[in-house]
Amino acid sequence: MKPSTLRIGYRYRPKRLAPAYDAIVIGSGMGGLTTAALLSELGWRVCVLEQHYTAGGYTHSYERNGYEWDVGVHYIGDVGTQTRTRRMFDFLSGGKLEWAPMADEYDRFYVGDRVFNAMAGKQAFRDNLVRQFPDESDAIDAYMDLLRQVGRALSDLAMEKVLRPWQRKLAAPVMKLRTPEFMYRSTYDVLSSLTQDHDLIATLCGQWGDMGLPPKQSAFMVHAMIARHYLYGGFYPVGGSWRIADSIIPRIQASGGEVFTYARVASILMADGKVTGVEMADGHRIDCGTVISSAGIANTFESLLPAGEARTFGYADKLKSVRPSFAHLGVYIGLKGTAEELGLPRTNFWIYPHNDYDAAVEAFVKDRDAEFPVVYISFPSAKDPDYLNRHPGTATIEIVAPAPYEWFEPWKGTTWGKRGEDYEAFKAQLGERLMRHLYDKLPQLEGKVDYYEVSTPLSTEWFSAHRRGELYGLDHTVERFRQDWLGPRTRIPGLWLTGQDTLTCGVTGAMMSGLLTTMAMVGMRRMGPLMKRIYS
Ligand SMILES: Cc1cc2nc3c(=O)[nH]c(=O)nc-3n(C[C@H](O)[C@H](O)[C@H](O)COP(=O)(O)OP(=O)(O)OC[C@H]3O[C@@H](n4cnc5c(N)ncnc54)[C@H](O)[C@@H]3O)c2cc1C
Repeated sequence: MKPSTLRIGYRYRPKRLAPAYDAIVIGSGMGGLTTAALLSELGWRVCVLEQHYTAGGYTHSYERNGYEWDVGVHYIGDVGTQTRTRRMFDFLSGGKLEWAPMADEYDRFYVGDRVFNAMAGKQAFRDNLVRQFPDESDAIDAYMDLLRQVGRALSDLAMEKVLRPWQRKLAAPVMKLRTPEFMYRSTYDVLSSLTQDHDLIATLCGQWGDMGLPPKQSAFMVHAMIARHYLYGGFYPVGGSWRIADSIIPRIQASGGEVFTYARVASILMADGKVTGVEMADGHRIDCGTVISSAGIANTFESLLPAGEARTFGYADKLKSVRPSFAHLGVYIGLKGTAEELGLPRTNFWIYPHNDYDAAVEAFVKDRDAEFPVVYISFPSAKDPDYLNRHPGTATIEIVAPAPYEWFEPWKGTTWGKRGEDYEAFKAQLGERLMRHLYDKLPQLEGKVDYYEVSTPLSTEWFSAHRRGELYGLDHTVERFRQDWLGPRTRIPGLWLTGQDTLTCGVTGAMMSGLLTTMAMVGMRRMGPLMKRIYS
């Protein structure tokens, strides 16, 4: 396989490092880049160290055989007007990131042999649901009301993460009063108290793949957060998802910082109970009293921090209360002909065998020949108005589906591209199964596919350093949201956390985690003027 040609960031070499940095960020995903950019804006010189050959974490794209694909961005919500999310993207990118709206029908759910849609716009979303479920208008209105109530509570819970432990204790009684109890119930529990129509529940949960847990297992708060996020439709970054990192990096460089690629951190260095820097995989040590890990909770506490320190500070035990999210397969497809010629929509497809999503997951985990519990299909070249300028006469499609990491363990530790014929055969078989779903929904594509390749959880581990190939970091269970140690602060002086595990998954979740981490680090007094610039 040819290597990808799309690479952003500056290749790491010890001699390219500045003599000193104010902070080191491990990982250049959205969480790491946001933290680095905001600190840079406050005058810090920040060194971002990324193990991959390109910057951006799950927002990176890659090119092969004349096609370009995104690995972890298919649509983003809440950026169509001057929302807080949009203002933050505008600030980080210096206004260079543009957003293209998807079709009004931005998500389509194939549930068994029935088809439902999510429509952009709060009223349109509600009215469309009522059209599809005319007997359920009361339940639908009650659901919309819950989404409304959740808004303030989600902001409170995010801000609580900035507080010091003693401030949290003081705030606890007020937080208890302000947080609706349904936030900490399972999604299914809450929805089944509103309706017994299982097709309606399935439609409301049609985006469960956006956080990787079916309704009986996921926390309602994360379901509601995602539903709110896409309530006004889906948007795609013009130019491809790699533009996100590409447009943020100059902010970091403007203060003398840099984003280095091929820069794997082997461990976080400590002396006298404090962080003193990092040791790179090549053995080079970078001294710095402030290290921010955006590499994920499991990576940080299980592999980057010396094992003895993880135990001493209690993290080895805390890790037992969380678990990794589902791993996934990706199919990256290139076609001759444009999206328009091929009839590709600006709508995501979600294909489910039936309306009991939890049962479908359970059956699949037990039996790898069972139907995929969800197959997600995205049409990036149709969503991106700039795609044809970069890749004329072509189109792309991406398919994502869950796959347990355990299936691939026999090949763990092998090298990407050289894992052997049995692995290739297994991958090909899974790829063919997923391609059949595509042809089933869009039969005109038979014979039009020029190229496709399949990624497995081992590819995710190889390129994105998620140890179990997980899609979304930690699983979004109710239990996870009860963990008050999942936030920017750690018990270790000089060590900070950011990224999806400290708040929630999603590009916006990771971006907001970067804001919270910066706030916790510098304090509200210094953050205030910057917040004014971002949000005024
Ligand atoms: C298939 C898929 C589809 C998705 N679709 C969407 C979507 O449509 N919309 C949306 O909003 N979200 C989507 N997401 C989720 C979203 O992409 C992530 O939640 C978010 O980007 C995570 O950002 P992060 O900064 O926390 O982590 P990451 O982006 O994973 O960044 C962590 C970085 O740390 C680096 N790293 C790890 N260890 C080391 C080390 N030792 N040394 C140096 N670097 C290290 C990794 O290489 C990685 O680049 C999707 C995710 C996936 C996988």
